[in-house]
Amino acid sequence: MKVSKVMVIGAGQMGSGIAQVCAQAGYQVVLNDLKPEFVERGLGVIQKKLARNVAKERITEQQRQEALARLTPSTNLNDASGVDLVIEAAVENMEIKTNLFAKLDQIAPAHAILASNTSSLPITEIAAATNRPEKVIGMHFMNPVPVMKLVEIIRGLATTDEVYQAIEDMTKTLSKVPVEVNDFPGFVSNRVLMPMINEAIFTLYEGVATKEAIDEVMKLGMNHPMGPLTLADFIGLDTCLYIMETLHEGFGDDKYRPCPLLRKYVKAGWLGKKTGRGFYSYE
Ligand code: NAD
Repeated sequence: MKVSKVMVIGAGQMGSGIAQVCAQAGYQVVLNDLKPEFVERGLGVIQKKLARNVAKERITEQQRQEALARLTPSTNLNDASGVDLVIEAAVENMEIKTNLFAKLDQIAPAHAILASNTSSLPITEIAAATNRPEKVIGMHFMNPVPVMKLVEIIRGLATTDEVYQAIEDMTKTLSKVPVEVNDFPGFVSNRVLMPMINEAIFTLYEGVATKEAIDEVMKLGMNHPMGPLTLADFIGLDTCLYIMETLHEGFGDDKYRPCPLLRKYVKAGWLGKKTGRGFYSYE
């Protein structure tokens, strides 16, 4: 099962990063979002990052141009008709993802693998929206995609060994390290990370310490490269809330209840770095 053409759905933080690393690794990439301006914004981010890589002599000018030439903008899901792999990175919402996968199943060639970059939603349930559950898999990239080495690869209940192997091999061609996990809420990464972030938000909510103090304790005391509240701002508070809700619902255990302060920030539209304001303010 050889992959040469990839479609990335969602040109946000994650989708633009995934499209960039795929294009840099030599894949033809269709970058899709709902509106042309969303695709343009994603392409703009990629252009800026590639230019910075040239300035820092990490890549050559020719490599920058070749990577950009492999990217095709799209606002039409029918563009999935010629690809070998779709990597979906739309918002963390089951209804949106199952709708997308049901449509993609009708459009993509029979051999194509449909992957989701979901942070926590069950791959098995997403796969059930298609007639090819054996070709549906999780490819969970980390943020920022061009920098972070890990890709958690999640086997749905029906995912075949052949499909798993194709995705593991493809991930290695992106200079990433694949790690195999099974399909349970939050997988490994967010089952461990997100309750820690949620607990940090509770310590702020309960007035245990200031946001700066909480972040400082975890940075200096636990050797984390950034504090949990800063990390939440980088991930996006809406994404953090979706993940906590998935853990809460998936395990039926109140230890995963989202902090009311997290809900409040999301309702206010304070979603973190991407909206200029979360626990901290960003220019
Ligand atoms: P984002 O809000 O930055 O981007 C999402 C993009 O998807 C937006 O541009 C939106 O317009 C687009 N979109 C929404 N519905 C669509 C549709 N039907 N068709 C095409 N495009 C659509 O979000 P993000 O942070 O990039 O997260 C995307 C996915 O990646 C989520 O599932 C999230 O859980 C997962 N993820 C996020 C992180 C993180 O740190 N942010 C890390 C790993 C995985």
